[in-house]
Parts: sequence; structure tokens; C-alpha cells
Amino acid sequence: MRKPLIAGNWKMYKTINEATKLVGGLKKELVDFNGVDIILLPAFTALYYVFQAIADSNIQLGAQNLHWEKEGAFTGEISPIMLKDCGCEYVIVGHSERRKYFGETDEVVNKKTKTALNVGLMPIVCIGETLEEREADKTMGVIEAQLSGAFKDFTADEIQGIVVAYEPVWAIGTGKNATPDQAQEVHKFIRGWISSHFSGEIAQELRILYGGSVKPNNIKELMQEQDIDGALVGGASLDVLSFSQIVKGAIAEKK
Ligand code: PEP
Repeated sequence: MRKPLIAGNWKMYKTINEATKLVGGLKKELVDFNGVDIILLPAFTALYYVFQAIADSNIQLGAQNLHWEKEGAFTGEISPIMLKDCGCEYVIVGHSERRKYFGETDEVVNKKTKTALNVGLMPIVCIGETLEEREADKTMGVIEAQLSGAFKDFTADEIQGIVVAYEPVWAIGTGKNATPDQAQEVHKFIRGWISSHFSGEIAQELRILYGGSVKPNNIKELMQEQDIDGALVGGASLDVLSFSQIVKGAIAEKK
């Protein structure tokens, strides 16, 4: 049984003060709620404050990005060791906004994912097609290329325990979400790919999150799909009520 996972990507929002307030509200709403793994992904500046605020709670911490080297002359970058130092357990790799605005390629995603694993951070590897690619019927080809690039030269041991997030680019921050059927089709494809490149057992254990305008009113139907194990939530994670409703809605009977 794969435990549901809901991760809140705060993107470039929330000052330290705002972040700690949000955590305070979430802790109250989600106290003793242990059926779902809950991860918060604040901006770098708020990481350590959020780490302190979630102490002794059921909430875990992650970062939105990392550098592939552990240290060095890389002005403005953040080392994975520094993320661990701030209390992070997870890190997003290859978010579509990083790919689009900061030129992250599959090769970079591969290097960052390897480094994250080397230092003991659990990567949440994001993949997904653009609207143009979906309309040209290229979705599965794009997903396959992103999976092959991200996990190039990975061993079965390395792949174990990582998290994949399927985030169709056209659904991120647009209010348009993929239908549960559309998401399930791609999630099933991802699990099949992992099964044929690593093993059926690893594929069965892999958690695959859906991301793209997840809200309290659509989480339940998404979670009913066989291969949807949780969500990576952007906009709706910035508010106590909407994020806690999503977390609570993540426990659903599979179809
Ligand atoms: C995201 O940032 O990964 C995301 C899915 O954003 P939103 O929920 O706002 O579409």
C-alpha cells in the first residue's frame, strides 16, 4: 500500500512571518492526521523557520531546488548539504517553471536527482507535457523522454523511494486541471515505464503525484484513480483552509 503524499509548493511566496503563521494554522488543522504524508516546500529564506515551527508535528520539510554540487564557487546557488542543514528531507527537481525560466534540461535534472539521493534528500522529480505537445498527441513521447533523461544510469537501488510528480504544464497555475482519466492514463504509463526499466516491485512502491490546479474540490476524484498517490499543490497550498482540506481529502477509496 502506497501512503498518500500531499506536498505544498509555496514557490516565491511567503515571508518568514507569513510562513510561520501558515504553519501554525496547518498544525492546528492537521494535528494527529497521520493518514497522509504532508510536506511543505517553502522558499529558501523561510526553510529553517518552518523547520523549527513544524518540530514535533506530522509535517515534513522540503526545498524547491538544489545545486548538483555539494559546495563550490556557484554564486547564488544552494547546496544540498545546506538544505539538509535546514532540516529538509525532500527536494523538488525539474519543476516546469525551472525548466521554462531557468533552462533546466533533463541532463541537469539527472545530475540534481543523483546528488539529492547522495546526500539523503528524497527527490520529487517533476515531468509533464506542454499544451502544444498534448494537442500534437506527443504526451507519452515527452514523458518517456523526460523519464529516460531524469533516470539515466540509475540503479534499481537508487530509484527506490523517489517520488515522481506528473504535472502537465498547461494545468499549472491556470485553473485548468487534467481530468482524473487524463491524469490516470499518464500515471499508469509512468508506472509501466518504471516497471519495465527497473522492476515491477519498485514500480508498485513508487509514489506518483499529480500536480496542476489541485483544489479541495477535485482532490477526491483524482485520488480515486489507481495510480494517483497524492498531489503537488501550488496556489492552493498558500492558504490554511484549502491546503488542509486537500490533505484531508487525499484519503480515498480507489476505483
Ligand atoms: C506547482 O507549482 O507544482 C503547481 C501544481 O501549481 P498549481 O497547483 O498552482 O497549479
